[in-house]
Amino acid sequence: MTHSTPAADGPVRPDGSSYPSARTEEEWRVELNPEEYRVLRAAGTEAPFTGRYTDHHGVGTYRCRACQAELFRSDAKFDSHCGWPSFFTPLAGDSIVLLDDSSLGMVRTEVRCRSCGSHLGHVFAGEGYPTPTDERYCINSVCLTFEPSVQE
Ligand SMILES: [Zn+2]
Repeated sequence: MTHSTPAADGPVRPDGSSYPSARTEEEWRVELNPEEYRVLRAAGTEAPFTGRYTDHHGVGTYRCRACQAELFRSDAKFDSHCGWPSFFTPLAGDSIVLLDDSSLGMVRTEVRCRSCGSHLGHVFAGEGYPTPTDERYCINSVCLTFEPSVQE
């Protein structure tokens, strides 16, 4: 087996450039709580239907929990009923990076933050959701921080 596990790939993007907001794993352990660290840095997955943003419908921007980079907007969020927050497109193509993930015996596409390299979730295509892209960015709530566009 030559497949590397996500999050152990090293501190560079697939194109060889570095993540500007990268930290050492020791620094991440200080900055993140254990559950955040397990998902963001060890490519874990939160239990379905437990995340705070799964059925969240506020208007605003979702940022990376680790580095605060803007990742997704609420107007691209849709109800997939899959148990995790789902978006049909990222905020911009350059807010995330996509990596082949062969863990668990499946070929999936992993989604990571383009600024810090942290694991966010996976993207699936062609599932038939009535969205403009027919893609589902399936993102762990624990990887996100929601910022309302209007302060209440
Ligand atoms: Zn980040």
